[in-house]
Amino acid sequence: MKNEKIAAVVLAGGSGKRMGSDIPKQYLPIDGHPVLYYSLKMFEDCPLVDEVILVAGKGETEYCVENMVKTWNMQKISHVVEGGKERYHSVHEGLKAIEGADYVLIHDGARPLLTDRIIRDSVEGARMFGACVAAMPVKDTIKVADAEGFAAQTPDRSTLWLMQTPQSFSYPLIRKAYDMLAQAEAAGGADWERLHITDDAMVAETFLKTKVKLISGDYSNIKITTPEDLIVAETLLKSRKNGNI
Ligand code: C5P
Repeated sequence: MKNEKIAAVVLAGGSGKRMGSDIPKQYLPIDGHPVLYYSLKMFEDCPLVDEVILVAGKGETEYCVENMVKTWNMQKISHVVEGGKERYHSVHEGLKAIEGADYVLIHDGARPLLTDRIIRDSVEGARMFGACVAAMPVKDTIKVADAEGFAAQTPDRSTLWLMQTPQSFSYPLIRKAYDMLAQAEAAGGADWERLHITDDAMVAETFLKTKVKLISGDYSNIKITTPEDLIVAETLLKSRKNGNI
């Protein structure tokens, strides 16, 4: 099965406004290393993955080359590219830097608790279904609010899942979908205004009507967004190191 090429795009192009810190969240230290280090290391150490594209924030590529690629001797990082204004712009830049691949795993660098098991299941899911996302059933009840902030609807919880990353695809498929997204944005118009792109699966669903398989992520595969997430992530990383989770 190893005549194929598997790439990973790791996103670190966000400014992390919700963290309230001057340093972007992906560079904040947890348990001795920057947040971004942990998922890069997982891809580096997984034999299934051939190449990693790191998408850095504006003006941060040099910093990443020095402090991530060189300091940690990350051999699989082939390109460090500059991201864009929104997450989907950053993903597109990452995809464009890949010189041909069969499958690509797109991962938030702000999710340091990625596991080897999730990477392997993501590769398998991309092979079997062409598109898959690590996801977990929601634990809480979810309400849809109206414009005045009142609860308007309660979707059936048994059908609701939290989307995580990696989001994994056949490379030609997701590249085409993102190219179509870029064309749609350039054209503008009402349809574009209604489109709020928040993940990669949405791009494939919207532009190519792709059916995306949900595979098992992990409740510990959290995204660092607000300050309390750092405390939770550090506790989880330490527990994992001690073999408790
Ligand atoms: O902002 P959010 O937490 O949803 O970001 C998810 C991931 O996407 C983070 O790893 C962040 O660094 C990345 N991102 C990016 N480019 C942007 C915005 C977010 O690479 N313009």
